[in-house]
Amino acid sequence: IVLAGILLALLVSAISYTLLILNMRPGKEILLGIKRGEFHVEYQPLINSDTGHMYGLEALLRWTHPVAGRVPAEAFIQYAEVQNLIVPLTRHLFELVARDAAELKKALPCGLQLGLNLSPSHLSSPQFRQDITHWVAAMPPNHFAYVFEITERAMVANDHASEIFSWMHDNQFKIAIDDFGTGHSALIYLEKYRFDYLKIDRGFVQSIGRQTVTSPVLDAVIMLAKRLNLNTVAEGVETAEQAAWLMARGVTHLQGYLFSRPLTVTQLIAWHQQQKDL
Ligand code: C2E
Ligand code: CA
Ligand code: CA
Ligand code: CA
Repeated sequence: IVLAGILLALLVSAISYTLLILNMRPGKEILLGIKRGEFHVEYQPLINSDTGHMYGLEALLRWTHPVAGRVPAEAFIQYAEVQNLIVPLTRHLFELVARDAAELKKALPCGLQLGLNLSPSHLSSPQFRQDITHWVAAMPPNHFAYVFEITERAMVANDHASEIFSWMHDNQFKIAIDDFGTGHSALIYLEKYRFDYLKIDRGFVQSIGRQTVTSPVLDAVIMLAKRLNLNTVAEGVETAEQAAWLMARGVTHLQGYLFSRPLTVTQLIAWHQQQKDL
């Protein structure tokens, strides 16, 4: 018992020590993590409301630290932004997705939309177009369509937004506005630029069925998207009730645990096979 106690104490102190290190030098740990291959990508299916079938995937970065374990994406993305490492980290994401692509291509239908999250600082960096061009060249040709998910913040704090968005559309990339309605509201930009998808934040979706009155903002966002001829993606759909509510109001695409959690490549291929067999 004493030995077990000592071991437990050692384990606990090792974990808190690593957490401390992680907090003290998150930048260094992220770079080491890239080098040591601690990152991988999970893919979450996106569902077309009309057909009920998968039409796309969102790639989500995962970090398993050798001692601290799974670090939440929100935390390490924020670390990376503060430490000026979001560009190298996103390049690593591109690399990992390109590595997964051969297997994904074998198992998944042609035309599938692959969505990646981009940080505002990457979007406004001078290497941005080159990074994207490099990545697409490393992907299998003519199989995937690409969607870049950006937040409203990226439009507000970017003098070249208009140029960048035009470049993206000229190259057949689609643009999704992520977490819509939560950050700096930038309604003016919805008229100024052309976007392809508006992603309704999970926070709004989760109020459906929980509160007696659903958010008037949610109603307004859906209506606004319709008037602007934008596709809508509701994220964080967890219950059939939420899905039915959203579909009844014409939300065109759905994403959430109700359909699938983010999956590793192997899990995703098994999930897709199972859907086909249904
Ligand atoms: P996000 O872009 O809004 O991504 C959606 C988040 O919602 C993901 O969390 C996903 O796992 C989670 N989610 C999806 N469906 C459900 C659901 O039904 N219920 C609940 N409770 N959650 C659901 P995740 O993977 O932890 O990512 C958190 C955030 O971290 C992302 O939010 C995104 O802002 C950022 N992130 C993740 N990967 C990347 C990346 O490669 N690059 C950048 N720039 N940001 C990333
Ligand atoms: Ca996203
Ligand atoms: Ca989102
Ligand atoms: Ca979010």
